[in-house]
Amino acid sequence: MTAQQQHIVVIGAGYAGLAAATRIGRKHRVTLVAPESRFLHRVRQHETAAGLPEHRPALAEVVRGRQVTHRQARVTELDLAGRKVFLDSGEALTYDTLVYALGSRTALHGIPGAAEHAYPVERAAELAERMRTAARPGTVAVVGGGPTGIELAAELAEAHPAWQVRIVAAGQVGGWLSAKGRAHVRKVFGRLGVQVHDRSAVTAVTAAGLRTDQGTLDADLVAWAASMEPRELAAETGLTVTPDGRAVVDQYLRSVSHPEVYVIGDAAQVVVEGVGELRMSCATAQPMGVYLGKLLTGRTDRPFGYGYVIHCLSLGRKDGLVQLVHKDDSMKPKAVTGTAARLVKAGIVSGVLWNLR
Ligand SMILES: Cc1cc2nc3c(=O)[nH]c(=O)nc-3n(C[C@H](O)[C@H](O)[C@H](O)COP(=O)(O)OP(=O)(O)OC[C@H]3O[C@@H](n4cnc5c(N)ncnc54)[C@H](O)[C@@H]3O)c2cc1C
Repeated sequence: MTAQQQHIVVIGAGYAGLAAATRIGRKHRVTLVAPESRFLHRVRQHETAAGLPEHRPALAEVVRGRQVTHRQARVTELDLAGRKVFLDSGEALTYDTLVYALGSRTALHGIPGAAEHAYPVERAAELAERMRTAARPGTVAVVGGGPTGIELAAELAEAHPAWQVRIVAAGQVGGWLSAKGRAHVRKVFGRLGVQVHDRSAVTAVTAAGLRTDQGTLDADLVAWAASMEPRELAAETGLTVTPDGRAVVDQYLRSVSHPEVYVIGDAAQVVVEGVGELRMSCATAQPMGVYLGKLLTGRTDRPFGYGYVIHCLSLGRKDGLVQLVHKDDSMKPKAVTGTAARLVKAGIVSGVLWNLR
């Protein structure tokens, strides 16, 4: 990198974009584009769904003291040849270098009725309001047996003990965990009264609940926490993308088709030697932002490196699971459970905010 000051436009103020912007802003002039005025702490959205208070610091506070200007707007289009970013405010920004960090959203997988009847985690606050104002407790079905679905089901069941919570998954709920990890999730669900429906692929969502390949499941409300998908803009603009729409990057997180564009976080397909393809997560997005901050300010010239250590799940406010994993994300048999795990998770979640700067 040249020592000269550049104008760097960072689009997206999630874990990746914000961690990059605050660090790059120590040396270069940064324009950070995101529609929200307060940081969206996505890993806590299951808490929002359960009606717990939100923790959303103002973006202006997070970037204070750095050469970072926040434009509160949405990117509508990119002109990569002309190095221009078009915003829904009508403004066009020019850049020397672009950092693309638009993240992901919950994937509805084209399931009929999901868009009309289900609450994806992005609508967590609406789900909380529906449960809070319901005339009487009913049944809420959580679709998705991955970490987000498990955290959401546990949180809802603990916050609303009078409601019946169901968790529904195409595979096995928590199936990727070690035997100890899976057993602990089952034990907590048993204590909280969560009904587990494994190997039930959802085929439709209706006003009355779910249709699955195993039959129908009644539900007054449906929360959708299936997998995540990248936003379309990367593919629309002509960046080289994977079939699922993530931008392909090299070992310095540069787009393989447009080297003046860096792509970080859930928007990027990152492959690390000895580890493999990284999964979409806060745990990988934030280190990418931190790394890029160092790279673009000349504090490193090494390729991006990463190795997994743990998976960390909250299971309500009093319990949790810390699953130990190998560097390549495969399971170790060991897992820490209960209050100790809950405290580790709480520490990590707070540390994420601190690490944004
Ligand atoms: C409930 C829940 C719990 C989770 N728990 C964990 C966990 O425990 N551990 C873990 O590692 N991961 C967890 N994840 C996954 C994690 O939240 C994501 O992988 C992470 O947010 C990705 O970070 P990112 O910076 O790439 O993108 P995001 O956090 O998605 O941020 C994207 C940014 O881009 C902005 N944006 C989008 N479109 C536009 C546009 N057109 N113009 C301008 N800006 C735009 C957004 O407003 C946002 O600022 C969880 C996810 C959910 C939903």
